[in-house]
Amino acid sequence: MSRLILVTGGNRGIGLAVARAFAERGDKVAVTHRGSAIPDGLLGVKCDVTDRDQIDAAFTELEQAHGPVQVLVSNAGAIDEASVVSMTDEQFTDVLDVNLVGAFRVASRAARPMVRSRQGRMIFISSVLGRVGARSAGNYAAAKAGLVGFARSIARELGPYGVTANVVAPGLVETDMVKGLSAERREQLVSRTFLGRFATPEEIASAVVWLAEDGTRYVTGAVIPVDAGLGLGG
Ligand code: NDP
Repeated sequence: MSRLILVTGGNRGIGLAVARAFAERGDKVAVTHRGSAIPDGLLGVKCDVTDRDQIDAAFTELEQAHGPVQVLVSNAGAIDEASVVSMTDEQFTDVLDVNLVGAFRVASRAARPMVRSRQGRMIFISSVLGRVGARSAGNYAAAKAGLVGFARSIARELGPYGVTANVVAPGLVETDMVKGLSAERREQLVSRTFLGRFATPEEIASAVVWLAEDGTRYVTGAVIPVDAGLGLGG
């Protein structure tokens, strides 16, 4: 049966691969965008995850046209690097606002209809850096670690209503987000993976789709690393 899926930040990168993977399986898929073009074959809703009114409007628009969102993929994220000694309050809180508070805003809006219908899946895109920490990205690592505690809290709170909440924690993924890395830094990071390469966005999408399958309805509060061992250290 076709479900309605919402992927925040699904207009490009990992989110777009996730959206396409669901669409290929016959689901109706909506992506949020902030003014960019809506990819072919997907529904688009304008929404910045730092703005609760825009989130509410996006959900309401989808509900009126297609019914409630049954699977939420909270993927929108951003990074802003600075050393802990030079990072401003604004740099720290802005990154939390998108990656963590944004996920909270979207999840809290998605939860109401899910609770009412006694079913729903929430999948949060964290990062290996939430587990191992990040030099010059303490704001981002803190936000991504926070997503784990948040998702597990939802899993506890909404489990009795048939709603699951899980986390996918990617390692290195070939998207715009890592375009700025120097060749030397890329090489250094890749050498720490067991497979010696970056992931494709599609390889992250596979784990997300799996967490929304009927057969994984008993999986909740889990963190699935998709990082070729990067999070294991060494
Ligand atoms: P991209 O930079 O390619 O895409 C980021 C997406 O998030 C875009 O769709 C962007 O929208 C959206 N976004 C950013 N800020 C907001 C906002 N305030 N409101 C709504 N949407 C917003 O990154 P990735 O695809 O690589 O990242 C996707 C997720 O995966 C992120 O959460 C990231 O932290 C995580 N991740 C990425 C890794 C990697 O190596 N690439 C590794 C681990 C985790 P817009 O087009 O409007 O800017």
